[in-house]
Amino acid sequence: MIDKLKRDLRALTQDELREQFKTLTQPAYRADQVYDWLWSKEAHSIDDMLNLPKALRESLKAIFEIRPISVNHEQVSKDGTIKNAVRLADGLIVESVLIPTDRRITACISSQVGCNMGCHFCATAKLKRIRNLSPGEIVDQVRAIQAQAEKHFKRPLTNIVYMGMGEPLANYRNVLASIERITSPKGLGISAKRITLSTVGLPKLIRRMADEQVKFNLAVSLHSARDEVRSAIMPVNDASNVKDLMDSMLYWYEKTGSLITIEYVVWKDLNDGPEDIQALVALCKRVPSKVNLIEYNAIGDGRFQKATLRSIDAYVGALEHAGVTVNIRRSRGKDIDAACGQLANKSLPESMEVLS
Ligand code: SAH
Repeated sequence: MIDKLKRDLRALTQDELREQFKTLTQPAYRADQVYDWLWSKEAHSIDDMLNLPKALRESLKAIFEIRPISVNHEQVSKDGTIKNAVRLADGLIVESVLIPTDRRITACISSQVGCNMGCHFCATAKLKRIRNLSPGEIVDQVRAIQAQAEKHFKRPLTNIVYMGMGEPLANYRNVLASIERITSPKGLGISAKRITLSTVGLPKLIRRMADEQVKFNLAVSLHSARDEVRSAIMPVNDASNVKDLMDSMLYWYEKTGSLITIEYVVWKDLNDGPEDIQALVALCKRVPSKVNLIEYNAIGDGRFQKATLRSIDAYVGALEHAGVTVNIRRSRGKDIDAACGQLANKSLPESMEVLS
């Protein structure tokens, strides 16, 4: 349970902590000690912070609390993928996924409870956004998967993708704060090059990240390079069209020098025609990028059908012919609804009770 009168200690940056300690007439090094407990030593209670005087711990406890997550339920797929139902301190549930391959162990993590972007093909969209996750709740998901990787595979976690529930750029500040803590040597010390943020494509925020010279990778869920098609399946395309998105992607490349991954699902009779292929090829010729063709995972409403292998081959052929790198991403963890777009939280009714 959470105490609504208190603040989440892990929502503060190191500078904010120092400010807070000034008002408590405490020296800056005390703030740094607390920061170290939170992010290097994984303290889950203020009482764990043994090098702080007891009186200081008591005054912190009067204002703050720490709100760790707990893994409520682990489901293991036939292919080794593990889906976690993650319980947040207020009782809500999000999902995270561990994806093992020969060379990598990837953590797919959530950034929001539900999502407001409304993509018609995505199960998470049906939930609407309930709330943003805090930096601590995001980092905890990574830590939990790090422990699972060691326990089940005896291998370290190698990659992190923000491709779980939610739109990371709609929770901009907390997502960037979480990446700062995951990459910091004082935090998890994982290289930014091993982190990918996947977005529905919000041009203003893509530019803002580029201006901040971030070092992680960017993936954009394009799914169509034609406005009429993209708008029909992704409401976000009404506010900013494909041209705006493409310009922001170019800007990203100019500022960061880092290739963008374009995520693209091919659906039958929706975006599998020659004009769809040509539009994508034209975009890729302008924006330095590589394409991941993602297999569609049905979400049970029968509205979308995955494309035939022949149409996928047509995409691959045209992209390769234009010199664009293209990968086909097979689904993982489908039998446990852990694949892309399937994270819809079948345990939600229980968590909704907490809200009502
Ligand atoms: N909001 C972010 C990240 C979450 S979704 C984004 O939009 O990128 C991660 C990826 O899964 C996105 O590319 C998304 O478009 C894709 N996706 C959503 N539903 C899907 C489904 N049913 N089958 C396959 N991919 C899906």
